[in-house]
Amino acid sequence: MNNGILFVMSGPSGTGKGTICEQLLLNKDNDLFLSVSSTTREKRKGETEGVTYNYTSVEDFKQMIEKDEMLEYAMYSGNYYGTPKKTVESMLVSGKNVLLEIEPQGALKVKNAFPEAVLMFIIPPSMQELKKRLSERGRETVEQITERLEAAKWEFEQSKKYNFIFVNDNLDDCVREIEKTIRDTAQCRNLVDKLLKEQY
Ligand code: 5GP
Repeated sequence: MNNGILFVMSGPSGTGKGTICEQLLLNKDNDLFLSVSSTTREKRKGETEGVTYNYTSVEDFKQMIEKDEMLEYAMYSGNYYGTPKKTVESMLVSGKNVLLEIEPQGALKVKNAFPEAVLMFIIPPSMQELKKRLSERGRETVEQITERLEAAKWEFEQSKKYNFIFVNDNLDDCVREIEKTIRDTAQCRNLVDKLLKEQY
């Protein structure tokens, strides 16, 4: 059996990356499995332990780093976030395609560890639209929104190192485009594996 493919999704706050990942996972045809990250941030309303994140203390998180249990980790807005190495590796070995929804520092570390990973980045159609979406969801103060917009600029710069950039102007179109990319990548990788085994 061939190994699964590691897909990594990033995008600044407000680009709709969370909704896009939800839809990708809901569609069983995509054959994607989410890796649940660990974080030291507080659980938010509507989130579920073990499903949204594994919530841990800073001490436990540092222990996991020391024991080399993280494929990657990063500090974001004052909290640690990290991807469990063992889970991801065993899913890939068993042929499952894995989706990581992580920020760019971590994504680029994953690319170093797994050069064959497929990095996808979501951008908004404009800064005005991003500001509008952040304001409308009403989760952050005006100062926090300005901070997020500044952080987004750094993230946009990192997006140039990704394999694919998608514009989330219309959600359904964007999801369809990503699904096609996932399908095409899986088909081409299968063909490559077949070619490698073929006699000539
Ligand atoms: P939130 O606190 O809004 O759930 O996530 C904040 C940011 O952390 C998002 O950009 C999210 O993609 C990112 N993130 C979530 N899990 C991980 C992870 O395991 N590693 C890294 N590097 N970033 C993560």
